[in-house]
Amino acid sequence: MKRLPLGTEPVLASDFRKEGAETIPPRSIVGLSLDEITERLAEIGVPEKQCKMRSKQIWQWIYLKGVKSFEEMKNLPRKLKSQLEEAFGFARPQIIEALISKDGTRKWLMKFPDGNEVETVFIPEKDRGTLCISSQVGCTLTCRFCHTGTQRLVRNLSAEEIIMQFMVARDDIGEWDKEDAGRLVTTIVLMGMGEPLYNFDNVSRAMKTLMDDNGINLGRRRITLSTSGVVPEIYRCGEELGVNLAISLHAVNDKTRSEIMPINKKYPIADLLKACKDYAGLRNSRKITFEYVMIKDVNDSADDARELVRLLRSYNIPAKVNLIPFNPWPGSDYERSSGNRVKRFSEIIFDSGISAPIRSTRGEDILAACGQLKSVSEKRRKSEILKEKKAAELSR
Ligand code: SAH
Ligand code: SF4
Repeated sequence: MKRLPLGTEPVLASDFRKEGAETIPPRSIVGLSLDEITERLAEIGVPEKQCKMRSKQIWQWIYLKGVKSFEEMKNLPRKLKSQLEEAFGFARPQIIEALISKDGTRKWLMKFPDGNEVETVFIPEKDRGTLCISSQVGCTLTCRFCHTGTQRLVRNLSAEEIIMQFMVARDDIGEWDKEDAGRLVTTIVLMGMGEPLYNFDNVSRAMKTLMDDNGINLGRRRITLSTSGVVPEIYRCGEELGVNLAISLHAVNDKTRSEIMPINKKYPIADLLKACKDYAGLRNSRKITFEYVMIKDVNDSADDARELVRLLRSYNIPAKVNLIPFNPWPGSDYERSSGNRVKRFSEIIFDSGISAPIRSTRGEDILAACGQLKSVSEKRRKSEILKEKKAAELSR
């Protein structure tokens, strides 16, 4: 593991507060839609006729050029720049830690002005790269195999905070000036901390910003939303966003699934698979990914594999399966299935004509692998507390 020099100087929202002004930072311009910016410009006195043109210019500076201050927006008049500085915040989150794994995986720990922290992971591959974005601080669901689910403190991330994870990655990897073809962050997966469908309003707003063709212009096929199965929101996600869908299935019968994923008691497998079938129907049979964490002696038998095939067939869902060997974390109840078991499971599904690759574990040395997010910030906090205690003792 090596520590990266931080490419992004943290700029705190507080830096934008005017002396003597109220302590609440002005609302960030990141997270507003193009139309909302246009409206807000009118409100701060920009002549009506110019608002649309100006908001587009601002949008392009933010999302095409990646500038970090209004001052850098060269084609805006000085007066407008100072009006914008008065009216809006425009701050990158503070980067507490930027780690790079021996396999090239990167992880950033970001801190927002209220002290909450989230992790974002970048997984480079040969000719593409995937950014794994968090949607919540922690998660209210308590899947038994997942480290994030053990975090007590939970809050939704704002649209701004979700978008910022992308911006920080692009800053740090140095991608703003590159042509599309040379860029490494090619796809986004909402597979970091949190349940994106429990924060759908903000996730949707953020994804629409990233998809907007005046700016970052990420196609909806380059975005995958992963959910533990919040059935009613799956329908909404299909209608509003139409991004790729990944389902954390992890078991083939309600008994086991409810045991390891309590949300199954509310939305059992039959309801979940019906929603998946309808989702695929909405989008011309685009394949739905079923994630399946391989846990020793819990869900990894050959019979489980055959039942999985039967289920996907009986609902007639265009599907691919992603097998994830369980990643242990300190205090976890389970063990990873043996290599042979995982292989056998994968073969049975492949033999039925459904693709079922085994996901290689990336970034394990920096605790960036699936289900491991949370630990570093907790550890850091504990070590900080110790440090503070020692300092307090010394100064006594
Ligand atoms: N809350 C969403 C998004 C998180 S995605 C969801 O559950 O789908 C993270 C993926 O990693 C999910 O498929 C999750 O089930 C899986 N995961 C969680 N803990 C894991 C662990 N310990 N080992 C392997 N995968 C895990
Ligand atoms: Fe939350 Fe997903 Fe982890 Fe379950 S697997 S606790 S839904 S983040």
